[in-house]
Amino acid sequence: MSSIAENIKSIQDSLAKINASHPADMKDTRLIAVSKTKPVEMLKEAYDAGMRDFGENKVQEIIEKYDKLPSDIRWHMIGHLQTNKVKYIADKVYMIHSVESEKLALEISKRAIAAGRVIPVLIEINIGDEESKFGIKPEELYDFVKKINTLEGIKISGLMCVAPYTDDPENNRAYFKRMRQLSVDIMRKNIDNIDMSVLSMGMSGDYEVAAMEGSSYVRVGTGIFGERNYNIGM
Ligand SMILES: *Cc1c(COP(=O)(O)O)cnc(C)c1O
Repeated sequence: MSSIAENIKSIQDSLAKINASHPADMKDTRLIAVSKTKPVEMLKEAYDAGMRDFGENKVQEIIEKYDKLPSDIRWHMIGHLQTNKVKYIADKVYMIHSVESEKLALEISKRAIAAGRVIPVLIEINIGDEESKFGIKPEELYDFVKKINTLEGIKISGLMCVAPYTDDPENNRAYFKRMRQLSVDIMRKNIDNIDMSVLSMGMSGDYEVAAMEGSSYVRVGTGIFGERNYNIGM
């Protein structure tokens, strides 16, 4: 089995090649190490291999890991976020990828103001229109943005999706293209106070295709840390 450092190196090498072939108007794709369920020791290995962006999907895990790891880590909240838990992480997270309701946006705004900061947020899109997934429908995006764009304490910074599970990453290429087009279309509407520079898409199975299609952040867990065992927890 290859080590965490080797896995990171091979993913970074692959991203570097893809970045070099990006068209001029496409920004570089960066890697987020998705460390959910993994122990602090493994995160330290990834940190020592150069990782500074980590993704977690549980508030409790962010709180516990935050104090045990270096303070220059950028913690990305990538999972479904309950409104009543925002207060615990408002001063800790670098970015929240999973905003999909007005209620949640309002709460993040309120807690960010209290923490004296502006939190960059991404709007989660249910790009595959899957029953089991969170996120708003692409056709709801404009109205949703217009509801939350003037909130203080948050900065709408782009879009995020969890594409359908597939054995062939090529199956998701059209979804990633659609995400990029959606962000371009929304920018053209000249809505105040928004920025669509971030696209968070691509996971272990399809990060290369997502990177080719202009992802800003690929979120890779299994490909770095190995399979997760949800029974053991952290
Ligand atoms: C777990 C998770 C990932 C990483 O998934 P892998 O397939 O292990 O790379 C990415 N994004 C989200 C939102 C996740 O919950």
